[in-house]
Amino acid sequence: MLLTRGNPKILKGEKQGYLTSILHLAPADLSGYQTCPKATAGCKAACLNTAGRGGIFKKGESTNVIQQARIRKTVRFFEAREQFMQELGLEIQSTIKYAEKKGLIPVFRLNGTSDIAWEKIRFGAYRNIFEAFPGVQFYDYTKIAKRNVPSNYHLTFSAADGNDADVAVAIDRGYNVAVVFADKKLPEQYNGLTVFNGDESDLRFLDPLKSIIGLYAKGKARKDSTGFVKRIIPIVTA
Ligand code: SF4
Repeated sequence: MLLTRGNPKILKGEKQGYLTSILHLAPADLSGYQTCPKATAGCKAACLNTAGRGGIFKKGESTNVIQQARIRKTVRFFEAREQFMQELGLEIQSTIKYAEKKGLIPVFRLNGTSDIAWEKIRFGAYRNIFEAFPGVQFYDYTKIAKRNVPSNYHLTFSAADGNDADVAVAIDRGYNVAVVFADKKLPEQYNGLTVFNGDESDLRFLDPLKSIIGLYAKGKARKDSTGFVKRIIPIVTA
């Protein structure tokens, strides 16, 4: 199986009528292949790759079955691309049928823990997988500001340590920008834009346009000191 479901945020989406399936690959160069060309020191340290069961290791071990499966999938993506894409297509097809039976709208995130430009990856006779499933909504976060994607692939730009210039490009190009904040109480505005709470669901393609998508720092991100997590200093008046 390439696609997975079932994290708590995804379950929130089901209540809104959507079934999200996610492809988790090994991030950055963990597999020996680069899947996150714009990864930063801060995002790598705080990466969701080690959130939930993916981050539970037996004493003295630095890997587990989830991590090994992600590495295997990533190696297959690079070394047996055609077979990998065929399998992905079949899983998307069967997920669409499964969602229909449950009365849910199927949606897909192919970069659960990677940042691959899927619009450039061929799928059989199609230019990319989005062209093969034109009526299906795909969505992802990305740190690559200049991507040209089809209309059924929604991207939210991810702010990180040291990518302010790319944030500006992304805002210019009309992307929403996800920002991880240290404080659970999100600011109302950031960089002149309204902050929308991104923790209420994972359905980023439903977010209001021209927004900052505020996410509360979780897990390892709470200890961030690189600037990946933004800290809002309250203005103290005398
Ligand atoms: S770019 Fe995203 S998936 Fe890749 S290491 Fe950073 S946070 Fe993880």
